[in-house]
Amino acid sequence: MPQAFADVAVLRKGDPQGNRMILRLTTHGGLTVHAIGVPQDWPSRTGPTWAYLFESDGVTLIDPGAHGSFRELVEGIEQCGYSAKNIDRVIVSHGHSDHDGSVAEMVGTSGADLWTHGMYATLLPYSQWEVQDRSSSPIHTEMNALADAAINHREESTYRRRNQRYNDSKKGLTVDHTVADGETFGDATIIHAPGHSPDELCVTLDGVVFTGDHVLPEITPHPTTKATYRSHIQEIMPAEFADASKSYGLETYMRSLKTVIDLGPTYSILPAHRLYNRNRYNFQTVDRAREVVLHHARRLNQILQRLTNETSGLETVTRGIFEHGKLLGGNLYMALAEIVAHVELLEDLGDLEFTEDKQLRKTGSQNHRQFVAELIG
Ligand SMILES: [Zn+2]
Ligand SMILES: [Zn+2]
Repeated sequence: MPQAFADVAVLRKGDPQGNRMILRLTTHGGLTVHAIGVPQDWPSRTGPTWAYLFESDGVTLIDPGAHGSFRELVEGIEQCGYSAKNIDRVIVSHGHSDHDGSVAEMVGTSGADLWTHGMYATLLPYSQWEVQDRSSSPIHTEMNALADAAINHREESTYRRRNQRYNDSKKGLTVDHTVADGETFGDATIIHAPGHSPDELCVTLDGVVFTGDHVLPEITPHPTTKATYRSHIQEIMPAEFADASKSYGLETYMRSLKTVIDLGPTYSILPAHRLYNRNRYNFQTVDRAREVVLHHARRLNQILQRLTNETSGLETVTRGIFEHGKLLGGNLYMALAEIVAHVELLEDLGDLEFTEDKQLRKTGSQNHRQFVAELIG
């Protein structure tokens, strides 16, 4: 495989996961991209959030990183030879706290313009619980009941407190510019890639695609489950985003993976996590997006295989697929949601149904195979 970059210079060596690491990458086209490993402000297994700094019609920063790590970010920017005030625009790849947690401090300090997708701007004043109506879907009701029964209240209250601080930090924040799919600045092009998050953006520039959490090395990003907006959200949602099925769910996510694959095999990815881990670089091409499609194809198959002779409940299927450690406390919700995302796609494809007595039942068709084949050929 050809070298992903013409040059990789380590400006600061961080820890083995890449926390506090600073890289200066030079593309084959001669573009300089600085990568800053901004640590998380809580124990997270994703590793640092990689913030990227480059010049294309002004200085752009993608993803300021976690709330509580702002000082680390500013220090990193300075080590790259810039000051926060040099930054003209901050692009948030998507509205998750490890990406936009310090965005308010960043735009406040730098005076940079904040660029996000229109969905981000629309949903900005609302916490995640205020957006979706979970009661309208039988399988979501079942998922919530199972997760509630397993909840660890101490873990839950820590999470809620942290989330409250995060939401408070964004009060009064305004988006200066909402971007549309295909929009350009300088030589860069923005792509809307919903699925992991409805507002997910990727940016392409000089043979590189900044993928946010859309495509990550080593780990597979969580797809969203399908969504129904609460009525007050539906009322304020711009017409172009009114159809939630275009922004949420595994089908949406997998179609957005195809968008990245279609850039062509020569594109290198610069992901928001795991650019560096366990003392080694993860320089990969968009072929990683194809691997992620195959991961989900295997999981679709695995779920149907577990239903060989009989029907089975959501909990049984989930516990049969994930190892015990991934099913404890708050992790159970993530595991259930991951399975529900796949079940919803299988239902839409006609391969499975969720019965009135809350059982998953195969229909006998294997339409998922055709669906995957159309994505990756
Ligand atoms: Zn995310
Ligand atoms: Zn993330």
